[in-house]
Amino acid sequence: MKGRIFTVAIDGPAASGKGTIARALAERFGLAHLDTGLLYRAVAARALAGEDPVTAAERLTEADLARPDLRSEAVGRRASEVAAIPAVRAALLDFQRRFARREGGAVLDGRDIGTVICPEAEVKLFVTAEDVIRARRRHEELRARGEEVSFEEVLADLRARDARDAARSAAPLRPAPDALLLDTSKLSIEAAVEAAAGHVEAKIGQGRG
Ligand code: C5P
Repeated sequence: MKGRIFTVAIDGPAASGKGTIARALAERFGLAHLDTGLLYRAVAARALAGEDPVTAAERLTEADLARPDLRSEAVGRRASEVAAIPAVRAALLDFQRRFARREGGAVLDGRDIGTVICPEAEVKLFVTAEDVIRARRRHEELRARGEEVSFEEVLADLRARDARDAARSAAPLRPAPDALLLDTSKLSIEAAVEAAAGHVEAKIGQGRG
């Protein structure tokens, strides 16, 4: 999609499958991809090291996004706290908006892409799954990386994070009115990706017509 502006906005709670779907769509349709959770995780990592979160968000660099520790539970928990600070979100807004409307098209996944970052996105998906299933996926992912954490702990943390993300006043987690809801509880990764890709193809077709 050379030269074309085309945004796929994918929102949803933790471990819903949105990241996997975003990466697969980016690959299939030749779009740039941004995992916006990484921005908040990078701010959190700097905050955990003692920096003021707002200053950290204002000074975020590419190198911060490449830190190897961003996927840990501790960083994820702190990320959902710093993400509730309006000035942190404001500092990260322009970068995400520019990324969304870059030439050649982009896929962004997060919590507020279709509602706040890019309400004009051509495609919006809201990806969900039951919390027990999401906790199981996250637990397996963490264990595969060698983090020793119990399933109960992961589930409790995920529920706390969902509640915080949905209840905050700054850009709460909620589906855009025009988003396609995709529940991945009973879907394989392949089936979820196919459903999402079918939706993108339908929208590309509409754009041509
Ligand atoms: O998706 P991930 O688990 O990496 O996101 C970490 C945290 O960052 C989330 O719990 C959420 O609070 C925050 N976040 C956000 N808005 C986004 C992406 C992530 O508030 N667009």
